[in-house]
Parts: sequence; structure tokens; C-alpha cells
Amino acid sequence: GQVDVECEMMVLGAGPGGYSAAFRSADLGMNTVLVEKYATLGGVCLNVGCIPSKALLHVAAVIDETSHMADHGVAFAAPSIDIDKLRAYKDGVIKKMTGGLAGMSKARKVTVVQGVGQFLSPNHIEVTGPDGARKVVQFAKAIIAAGSSVVKLPFVPEDPRIVDSTGALELRQVPKKMLVIGGGIIGLEMATVYSTLGARIDVVEMMDGLMQGADRDAVKVWQKYNEKRFDKIMLKTRTVGVEALPEGIKVSFESAEAGVAAPEPQLYDMVLVAVGRSPNGRKIAAEKAGVTVTERGFIGVDGQMRTNVPHIFAIGDLVGQPMLAHKAVHEAHVAAEAAHGEKAFFDAKVIPSVAYTDPEVAWAGITEDEARQQGVKVEKGHFPWAASGRAVANGREEGFTKLLFDAETGRIIGGAIVGTHAGDMIGEIALAIEMGADGVDIGKTIHPHPTLGESIGMAAEVYKGVCT
Ligand code: FAD
Repeated sequence: GQVDVECEMMVLGAGPGGYSAAFRSADLGMNTVLVEKYATLGGVCLNVGCIPSKALLHVAAVIDETSHMADHGVAFAAPSIDIDKLRAYKDGVIKKMTGGLAGMSKARKVTVVQGVGQFLSPNHIEVTGPDGARKVVQFAKAIIAAGSSVVKLPFVPEDPRIVDSTGALELRQVPKKMLVIGGGIIGLEMATVYSTLGARIDVVEMMDGLMQGADRDAVKVWQKYNEKRFDKIMLKTRTVGVEALPEGIKVSFESAEAGVAAPEPQLYDMVLVAVGRSPNGRKIAAEKAGVTVTERGFIGVDGQMRTNVPHIFAIGDLVGQPMLAHKAVHEAHVAAEAAHGEKAFFDAKVIPSVAYTDPEVAWAGITEDEARQQGVKVEKGHFPWAASGRAVANGREEGFTKLLFDAETGRIIGGAIVGTHAGDMIGEIALAIEMGADGVDIGKTIHPHPTLGESIGMAAEVYKGVCT
């Protein structure tokens, strides 16, 4: 058959997983082709995920901080928001980052083939370009990094006032009254942005808590701090109907608990659906390559990120939870190195998670809930930020730092931080867990004073009973 491009390594998808895999493959000397349907590299994370959301959250944090300054004797005028300029700023950030990636692929001589890829065989993929032209790429090895897509609710109609995270990041308007369906990280980050820009927001969540998987005490601190920011946070509540009416989007609810009355239906100017993401495994004709895909679209892999077809690897959102960029990047390096014949394995003990909300919530390793479920006995070191000079000086003392130690070995196995910049600090806890550190290792490490990061050392000291 027809072959237009030949290569040693073909990477499908140019998100954080795909571009990292392609770069590492090229660095190892493999002739590499990167197939991506969009005109820019970077995938969900750079174009419609991590990076644009953080650009907007940065602006929100500055607005929120200046609004508190009056309490410290410095009053700013109310912000005047030019939404077009704000959008342009966010788009400029994306452009800088995706442009950087294009430069890096050029420097490494990675061939980018733009178009939608569909496997034809275990060694061929057909790529249909934006102009409809088809190219066949023949490869010796492949890494599948096709990512994930937003989950849609079947009963939600098409309407410009109803958006997913991509639509919310477009920042077309700031509504007066907005509903966020789904109390996970993505929904709450966008809720933080829109509330700071002036929207009144309700959040509805089916489960009994926000940010599933996070340390419950940390979430409590977040919720208390945000009591006034949001109008209603409806937990254990299902959204059952969404109607697009001329006067607004009418949403009806049902209690997820038997015998509990549901909230009354409400009218909103904008509704954000943020109920999760589903893997793209079933959209790439993987069966033609012989690669097994689960019903839900995940691709199974071993510790080297190898699929059931030995020369085809898979990484990122489409191999499983947690769907996070830093997980995809690490898996990418393992896959490229393993494909090159090295003894690489994905053996990370922990993958940290961060909600870049206000305050931030970050955690790594085991949580107290998980320890209870798994029957692991843990001991705690808990340091409240009210005792941190830096947090008090910042006017933000609501946070805490919590470390969890294995009661038998004394080694750290988990930790959680809630407070400003928590996400920038959780990496130290991840490192401590990976290194098998105990409370003395952490407590005797001299942390600079006065920093928020110092609270990690303090929490270890509290655990050792040195200070209480
Ligand atoms: P993706 O980034 O999904 O990339 C897959 C790429 O493959 C896409 O570019 C797609 O166009 C391409 N593709 C798919 N199928 C084909 C095909 N058949 N042919 C050609 N190309 C194809 N994670 C974090 O770690 N931190 C955050 O702060 C964070 N914030 C987020 C905020 C939002 C709003 C969202 C939606 C996600 C966020 N995430 C965050 C998650 C993060 O974006 C993903 O975990 C990450 O992008 C996964 O990378 P990936 O390489 O697996 O796939």
C-alpha cells in the first residue's frame, strides 16, 4: 500500500504526554513523527487546560488580594475589567508556550504531521489533514497519547449559554448568575475565576464532598474560606434537567439521598458542565493495530507503558487516572526509553494533585481516608498556619500543613497542604515520600524562615513532639 512518511517512532497526539514522548524519542536518536490534529502542539493542557486556567487564576488571585488590602490600610479602587484584553492576555500566554514547543520540535528534527490519525495496521497510521488530504505514516514503534475529552451529560441541550471547560476558558461573557455542575478541581477552578470577575455562582455535586480524593480537612478549610464567595454549594444533589429558555437556562435537581427534598429548579445565565473527562481510546481505530481498548476507552499498559502489542506503547489520560499533565510527562519518558530498549519503568510512589483554587489545596500520597480504608496505621504531624509568621504577615492564616507517617516504619507516606501557594510546596512532600524520609529527616532539614514551606519542617517537628 501507499506510504508517504517512514519513521522509527510515531507518536499519536501532541499533549504533554505526546510532545514529551516525541522529544525524548528524538533525543535518544530515533527518527520521530508526531501526529496531531490541531494546528498547535500542547494538547488539552496548553491550549484549553492547565495553562489558560492558570493565567486566569493568576489574574483572579491579584484581584482578590487587592480587595483584601483595605483591611491592611491600603485601599484600591474597584477593578475595571476589560474582558477582551484579559482574553488576549490568556491567549498570548498559550501562544508563547505552543510556539516554544514548535521551536523545540524543529530543533530536535521531530516531523509534525497535522491531521486526524487512524490506525490501519500495527505498523501504519492514516492521517487526514485539515484540507482532507490523506497521508500514510509507516512506523516501527508507536506511542499512543491521544488524551481525553470532556464528558457530556445526555440531557443537556446545545446552547451558547451552556459551556464545558473549553467554553468557559474562552471567556466570552461574565454572567450574573452561573451554575457549575461538578465540584471537582476543574469546576472549582473555573468557579473561582468567574466569581472573582463578578458572577454569583452555585455549585452542584452528586457526591457528599467537593474535590473527591483530596484530604477532607483541607477541603473543609477551603469551603469555610469560600463561604461568601459562592451562593450555594449543593452536595449529594443530582442535576436531572437542563432547559434552554429565552429568559435563562432552567436547571432542575434531585437529591441523591432517599427522602431528602431536592432544591427548587433555578434559572441561570450560564451553566458550566464539568463532570469529568473520558479517554479517547475508542476514536483511533486501535483495533486495526491490534491494541486492546476497554469499553470506556482506556488502553491497558504494563509498567513500561507497553500495550498488548509489544512495539506499541500508550501514555497519559488514556491509560487511566489520575488524568494529570505531570503523570503523562513521566509516562512519556518511560515509554520512549523502554521503546529505545532501556530498562525504564513507571514506579513513582506518588503523583501529587493540586486544586489551584483560593486557597490552593494540594495533596500527595495516602490520605487519612485511604489509610483507614486500607487498614494502614498512620501518625500525623499537623501545623496550623495561624502559627506561621509568614502566613500571618500575608494576611492568609487559614491554611495548614499535614504530614502522615507510617506508624510502623516512621516514614512519611502522605501529606496535604491547604493555603496560598500550597501547589508550589507539595513537591517537597512528594520528594520526601519518594526518598523514604522520616520525621527526623524532614524536621532536621533547615527550611528558610519565614516561608510558607517552613511549615513542612514544622509539621514534622510537631509529629516528633519537638514542638506542639
Ligand atoms: P491531551 O493533552 O488530551 O492531548 C492529546 C492530544 O492528542 C490532543 O492534542 C488531541 O488533539 C490529539 N489527538 C487525539 N486523538 C487524535 C487523533 N486521532 N489524531 C491526531 N491527534 C489526536 N492537569 C494538570 O496536571 N494540572 C492542571 O492544572 C490541569 N488543569 C486542567 C484544566 C482543565 C480545564 C482541563 C480540561 C484539564 C486540566 N488538566 C490539568 C489535565 C491535563 O490537561 C491532562 O491531564 C493532560 O493534558 C493529558 O495529557 P495527554 O498528553 O494525555 O493528552
